[in-house]
Amino acid sequence: MTASRLIIMGPQGAGKGTQAALLASRLDVPAISTGDIFRAHIGGGTELGKLAQSYTARGELVPDEVTNRMVRDRLSQPDVSGGFILDGYPRNAAQVQELDGILSDLGVSLDAVVELVADRAELLARLRQRAVVEGREDDTEEAIARRLDIYAEQTAPLTGAYEARGLLRQVDGIGDIADIADTIAAALDVR
Ligand code: ADP
Repeated sequence: MTASRLIIMGPQGAGKGTQAALLASRLDVPAISTGDIFRAHIGGGTELGKLAQSYTARGELVPDEVTNRMVRDRLSQPDVSGGFILDGYPRNAAQVQELDGILSDLGVSLDAVVELVADRAELLARLRQRAVVEGREDDTEEAIARRLDIYAEQTAPLTGAYEARGLLRQVDGIGDIADIADTIAAALDVR
C-alpha cells in the first residue's frame, strides 16, 4: 500500500507540524495545516482571518461551519488529487463526519491516521519554549492550557473511531525528530 491520504493527529506541541512536513516531502503530497491556513488569513487581514482570530487567540476552536468549508475548498484543489496529509483537522466528532462526506464526494478514502503520543508535562515544556522562540499570539499560558484541554476532551477520543476502522497508527512523539519520522514511515510502510 502506498499511504497517501493521511491524517496526522496529536496534542499541541507533539510535533505534528514538523512531522507532517517531513512526511509530505517523503510522499510528495501537500501537507495541509488548518492552523497555518488560519494564520495566513489572519496575517493577510481577510474577513475569514478576522473571524478566525477572535477564536484562535483564545485557544478556542473556530466554528465548524467556517472550518469545514475551508477544508472542503482546500481538498478540492488539483494539487491534492494524488494525496495529502491533514494536520489539525478533524478536531471534533462533527469534523470527522464532515471529512468522511468530503472524501466520499471526491471519491477517495483515507489510508491511515497517525497519532503522535506525548504526555502533558513534556507538551507544556515544549509549548513554553515555542512561545519564547516563535511568539505566536495563541501561545499564552491560558490559550495553551485551553488547547490541551480541548484536545483531551474532543480530539483524542476521535482516535477510537479511526482505530475501529483499522486506520490508526500510534507513534511515540518524544525523541529525535529524524527517528520519529522514520518510525512514522515504517508504521505506514513508506520507504
Ligand atoms: P495547535 O496545534 O498548536 O493548537 P494549530 O496551528 O493546529 O495549533 O491551530 C491553531 C488554532 O487554529 C486552533 O487553536 C484553533 O483556534 C484553530 N483551528 C485549527 N484547526 C482547527 C479545526 N480543525 N477546527 C477549529 N479550529 C481550528
